[in-house]
Amino acid sequence: MRSLKSTGSTSRRYERQIPLFGPEGQNRLGDATVLIAGAGGLGSPVATYLALAGVGELVIVDYDVIQESNLNRQFLHATASVGLKKVYSAEATLRSLQPDLSIVTYPEKIDASSAGRLVSDSDLVVDALDNYEARFLLHEAAWNAGIPFIHGAVEGFCGQMTSIIPGESPCLSCLIPTPPPASPVPVVGATAGVIGSLQAMEAIKFITGTGKMLSGRLLIWDGLSGRTDYLKIRQRVDCPVCSHGRGS
Ligand SMILES: [Zn+2]
Repeated sequence: MRSLKSTGSTSRRYERQIPLFGPEGQNRLGDATVLIAGAGGLGSPVATYLALAGVGELVIVDYDVIQESNLNRQFLHATASVGLKKVYSAEATLRSLQPDLSIVTYPEKIDASSAGRLVSDSDLVVDALDNYEARFLLHEAAWNAGIPFIHGAVEGFCGQMTSIIPGESPCLSCLIPTPPPASPVPVVGATAGVIGSLQAMEAIKFITGTGKMLSGRLLIWDGLSGRTDYLKIRQRVDCPVCSHGRGS
């Protein structure tokens, strides 16, 4: 059990948030295991805020090595860490922020053979990926396992986010029937900060049972105009993921 002990130190660390969801909510955070797929622009705010909130275990999956071009947005990684595997740099940063955090790292690609294994021990999956092939494999594995999947994606000054909850909401394949081709996109670091923070908020709400999940709707944020819009997600009757099987 990773339940938080009622030590003075623990109480002080979380005294500004425990009033929001009670010691029970804090203990649920301490007991939770969250898989974060991607330790980059979205993964940086997601992992940081979940570690600081007191999530007990983070499972971080990322195959990439840190490049200098990552540093405009990926604040888990220091300049001196260029050339290192992202998961190990992320682990060191997160451990310095929250020494009690349990961190499991997988420096491996997400493919058809690994997706099911990677999601299997998690309560929640956060999609902080930048390519749709891995995103869809992980999403389908999470859907089949009945595990909520918090999707986020960014480009330029804009981003989107929604929570896919098996049995309650349409799935990601209903929203995006044909994944776009993989290609690097320009992005401002603050855009990833906004969307990643919203994903962390969804995770905290889900774990603590607080508030209303943003499921069945896609939040679309336009940083240039300051607008936030919502798109209702409709289930496709021919969806290969959710029109049959568990959660349909
Ligand atoms: Zn679907």
